[in-house]
Amino acid sequence: MEQSMIRLQAQLMKDYYKDFSRYAKGKKPECKIAWVTAFTPVEILEALGMDYYYPESYAAVIAASGKEQELMQECERQHLTADCCSYSCCFEGCVSLEKGPRGIPPKPDVLIATNNQCNTLPNWWNILAQRYHVPLIILDYPGEYVSGDYAYDYVRKQHEDLIFKLEILSGNKLDMSVLDKMIRNSKNSVQAWERIVDEFAVRAIRPTELFDGISFLITARCKEETAQLYVLMQEEFQKYSMADLTLTPVFWLGYPLWYHKDRYLSEIFDGFRMVGSNYITWWNLDYSGDTPLERLFQAYNYTFLNLKQNSRTKKLMECIKRSKAAGTVTLRNKSCKCDFVSARNIGLPQAELEIDMIDRMYLDTGKARRQMELLKEAICIVSELI
Ligand code: SF4
Repeated sequence: MEQSMIRLQAQLMKDYYKDFSRYAKGKKPECKIAWVTAFTPVEILEALGMDYYYPESYAAVIAASGKEQELMQECERQHLTADCCSYSCCFEGCVSLEKGPRGIPPKPDVLIATNNQCNTLPNWWNILAQRYHVPLIILDYPGEYVSGDYAYDYVRKQHEDLIFKLEILSGNKLDMSVLDKMIRNSKNSVQAWERIVDEFAVRAIRPTELFDGISFLITARCKEETAQLYVLMQEEFQKYSMADLTLTPVFWLGYPLWYHKDRYLSEIFDGFRMVGSNYITWWNLDYSGDTPLERLFQAYNYTFLNLKQNSRTKKLMECIKRSKAAGTVTLRNKSCKCDFVSARNIGLPQAELEIDMIDRMYLDTGKARRQMELLKEAICIVSELI
């Protein structure tokens, strides 16, 4: 069992990283390459036999390998200030110096950005388009701000146009039944991952295992092996002991800290246990609908960060309630304001930490420790009042 998990992980990693740097040295790729943002309908690209890479994810890998400072400084020397999203600064430094822990991703033939997450991404992709002189496709998802039928028509047309352009680029014709299969794979991956998230709330699972484990749902959600891996992971987690209920349950509201060996501030978690995180539910996309295009619309138009504040609060509250957290550790992320505002009105004591998910220099551990002590006191007071 353990061996199969390792084999599946290794296979997915190998598939993703096998061509890093290889083509930077002038070798011609075997298929067309896209660089995409984290909530791009990659099922279309997979069905067309294209390869795709995620600059945001690679920035996380760079920080995990301890290389982010040099690359962020290079980026600042060139054009972007360190106040911009650290994912972009870190990755821009990487492609400027052609240097990264696993090399650099194969050069793109097309860039695809979506705004269902934030507006930084289309701007960042514009910078990449200037660097590589390749077509840039921006998908505009209106979210809940436009009524259902109109939004569906608007997004469907963009997806059809994307298919048309990528068919020309890749030289392949989209087979709807293959697209349907890719969407089913994604759906299976999401369902298997949701079961893992449920285990996390009740068992002694290290948060690191989920913060790292979700990477496959991001970069390989429509590959069959991802759901297989998650089913095995869940079986493995079911063998873990139950969580220590004497520890105070808290919800991690924000990104993992990619530079940290545990991906969260484990050193200030004395007496606490993490029971949930919004980050590990962001890719639980809802692929419901009768046709492949309806399913893609539903999944990518209504991503968590593309919802209105009220809906976000409602979803977040459901998530926190399910985890049985008594308080939250809320990250006021230097890079990402849109994530932080999700935490409004959640009605629980919060420790609000100033932090960045990539830039390790932007952290005062002493202050964070004091905030956690205050959080513990606040939770005690609230529980006495109930
Ligand atoms: S971290 Fe925030 S600002 Fe940066 S790309 Fe992600 S969603 Fe956008």
